[in-house]
Amino acid sequence: MRIVVLREREPGETRVGLVPDAVKKLVAVKAEVAVENGAGSAAFFTDAEYSAVGAQLSPDRDELLRSAELLVCVSRPPAEDTAKLPRGSVVVGFLRPLDEPKKLEPAIDRGLTAFAMELIPRSTRAQTMDALSSMATIAGYKAALMAADRLPRMFPLLMTAAGTVPPARVLVLGAGVAGLQAIATARRLGAMVKGFDVRSAAGEQVRSLGASFIEPDLGGEQGEGTGGYARELTDEVMDRLRNQIAQNAGTADVIITTAQVPGRRAPLLITENALRNMRPGSVVIDLAASTGGNCAVCKPGQETVAGQVTILAPLNLPATMPTHASQLYSNNVLAFLRLLIKDGEAHIDLNDDVVGPTCVTHNGNVVNQRVASALGLVAAKG
Ligand code: NAD
Repeated sequence: MRIVVLREREPGETRVGLVPDAVKKLVAVKAEVAVENGAGSAAFFTDAEYSAVGAQLSPDRDELLRSAELLVCVSRPPAEDTAKLPRGSVVVGFLRPLDEPKKLEPAIDRGLTAFAMELIPRSTRAQTMDALSSMATIAGYKAALMAADRLPRMFPLLMTAAGTVPPARVLVLGAGVAGLQAIATARRLGAMVKGFDVRSAAGEQVRSLGASFIEPDLGGEQGEGTGGYARELTDEVMDRLRNQIAQNAGTADVIITTAQVPGRRAPLLITENALRNMRPGSVVIDLAASTGGNCAVCKPGQETVAGQVTILAPLNLPATMPTHASQLYSNNVLAFLRLLIKDGEAHIDLNDDVVGPTCVTHNGNVVNQRVASALGLVAAKG
């Protein structure tokens, strides 16, 4: 099995699919790993470190693509790279299958077997492979740091000879992996934190981090769906929630939003009215920017000022911490590859309860039902 790792091409992408430590473990189980020169440099992993653990370094991207049996990437490879992969080869990476299904067409045309790391099931068995959680942890941490950096006030309570500085008040909307990490980080910086989620079960986790929980006003409806995820709510309930958030916005210096729904636009949580309630100088960090944003005033990748409130809508925050983001992602990928490789050879079992749900296309056939529907197809049997 020849595994190939390339330098990422997506603008702003600094992560690498496999770090040297993971390469070493793959080489130890008889896999051959070829790495493009400089693939890890933006994440501060040198070519010398890859060579030292047995990777074959090459400057020839085209040759690497043509010889790949399995390509490990972070972002979906560009169509011109996909076209050079051998028919029947395997791709593993963040492929955005539900958000951008059309962009999978080059992989389908090329007859590839593609695994989307976003689709790793949220099961106990797959925890070590849960790349979405790894990246959400980094995004939540960085969001709290960005807020602390941009707020014209300090986060902690300070009692000094020159007077007392009250702690900043931070509201985190969505208490999934990113939200909980944002809460924990803001607490460590000394802020007073409130968490909000439509899943009442999130309350206990929020409180365990020393924050308070705002019980959602769901008008008697259930906010919890299947598998621990939020349920899709009616317009009427969403209006109630937006009103509740607008009221709480008046007492927040910072709002960090993290609510996303795979394959759909992010729910609108902060209205222009809520922004008007915020104090001058307040900051909103919208982590759902890549799927439209949770804030009514959100320009993905840009900074906007509404009244005297600054709204940041960062894209790909994990890429701003590439060393740890690559290390965690690489560990997730390595754990997944252990399911695909036996004795150094590919062994793809779509009946496996992690491998099957993660597979989007198998030998060019779309095998994931949701992706097939988004493309107007019927899913093939794996
Ligand atoms: P996510 O990125 O899908 O969403 C972030 C949070 O936003 C979620 O907590 C969600 O309930 C909340 N949300 C959605 N719509 C909302 C709205 N309108 N208003 C307010 N909040 C809203 O979440 P995630 O981080 O991927 O986690 C989703 C679930 O999966 C959680 O229950 C989490 O504990 C669980 N999880 C389980 C595992 C595992 O078992 N291995 C791993 C990771 C996450």
